[in-house]
Amino acid sequence: MRAASASQALPPPAAPAPQAGPDLAALVTLKDVQRHLAAFQEIADYNGGNRAVGGQGFGVSVRYVVGRLKKAGFKPTVQRFTFPYWRERSDPQLARVAPSKASYKVGTDFLTFAYSGAGTVTAPVQAVDLPASGEGTSGCESGDFAGFRKGSIALMQRGTCAFATKVAKARAAGAAAAVIYNKPGEKGPVNGTVEKVAPIPVVGPSYRVGSELAKAAKKGGLSLRVRTDAVHGKRSASNVIADTRRGRAGNVVVAGAHLDSVPAGPGINDNATGAAALLAVAEKIGKLGAKDVRNRVRFAWWGAEEEGLVGSTHYVKSLGAAARGRIALDLNFDMLGSPNGTRAVYDGDHSARLGTVPPAGSGAIEKTFRDYFAGRRLPVTQTPFDGRSDYGPFVAKGIPSGGIETGAEGVKTAAEAKAYGGKAGKAYDPCYHAKCDRMRNVDLKLLDTNVDAVAYVTQRFAASTLPVNGEARVAAMPAAPYLPEWQGPYLVR
Ligand SMILES: [Zn+2]
Repeated sequence: MRAASASQALPPPAAPAPQAGPDLAALVTLKDVQRHLAAFQEIADYNGGNRAVGGQGFGVSVRYVVGRLKKAGFKPTVQRFTFPYWRERSDPQLARVAPSKASYKVGTDFLTFAYSGAGTVTAPVQAVDLPASGEGTSGCESGDFAGFRKGSIALMQRGTCAFATKVAKARAAGAAAAVIYNKPGEKGPVNGTVEKVAPIPVVGPSYRVGSELAKAAKKGGLSLRVRTDAVHGKRSASNVIADTRRGRAGNVVVAGAHLDSVPAGPGINDNATGAAALLAVAEKIGKLGAKDVRNRVRFAWWGAEEEGLVGSTHYVKSLGAAARGRIALDLNFDMLGSPNGTRAVYDGDHSARLGTVPPAGSGAIEKTFRDYFAGRRLPVTQTPFDGRSDYGPFVAKGIPSGGIETGAEGVKTAAEAKAYGGKAGKAYDPCYHAKCDRMRNVDLKLLDTNVDAVAYVTQRFAASTLPVNGEARVAAMPAAPYLPEWQGPYLVR
């Protein structure tokens, strides 16, 4: 989900204005960050190979961050919350049983939706308002299920409404399972979520597999076997939040990074890099004087981002309207050292016209990052506000947001390879959400310059948020209805 525009085309402006007092970007070293990365790696290695919520590795990561913050003079808060735990226990199955037999491959042909129900269903298939071409509204309206035979499998195409809506309507019509295939032009299976545990199995084939099934369903006599095996229940996780003692409590700068990994691996690029950068900045911010920290800086390590932005959503909900209005802006740092990465700044001025229109003020945050990198003649690209990380709940409430990331499963373009080096046609992070997301999966040079930017931008907004909000409370009203395509790592529609 990367905007097409490549590197910054504008002539570089003058180097960032020198700070009056100490320079946070110079105080925070790559070594500081590497020390934290090594700690997160060790925590994962001794706790089942990951730092995912619901397991030991996450709890130890929380204690590590809390311990370091206390040493640096903070009084951190651990905010506990529950999240709907959901994990697959064994590989799912999708197979055609009539009129001819075929079985499909998990990963390449289809995936289980997050929060799918568990069970085995062998039943005839009914096509639900499948579009002849393009993206339709298959399964979005109750009328789509007129004449639907109870106990059948509903075959739908991704498009328009949320997967959760399609599944709820299919369930109401008596479907025993739901198969939602990808839309044309999208590669691979649907990596989606139905957001809350569904009572029926839900799987998402690729467009190729789905259109094959659609053709067979139209001919008649198509039956499928769908099997999913997952467990679910309530578990608890936490956010770690620490405010600077200095700065106005009425104009708060939130700087956040998610602390949890996926269960598949230790999550060093995703997102020990962001969590470690933030921790290193927090440890040094005390060296700035009262003139440099006029606004309160609130450092936040979010939990359960990988379950669908659960921790940050809980935090924003836990604030009343008044407390939300005191937040000047939100900075988000998720994946800062992808091994085949680019340097993507969130598209605050919506110049690429992709994703959600972010709240007013977000453009000034984008420009602050861009100007910093331009001053160092480092290339940047942009990335849309599409809901893939923890800025989501802030944007939804109208809080100006920004930040940087360096790319996940998306593929590097030729123009990007020219600007940044690395391999065109390969993923920004080939170890994204995998076991190999270890220390050596991090591009230290890319990380180093990004850590400088985290420090620089934090210091800049600690001193003044004038360009973002005129130093005044924000209305905390969303610019537009927030209907993101993603909820963390999963598609919602
Ligand atoms: Zn992440």
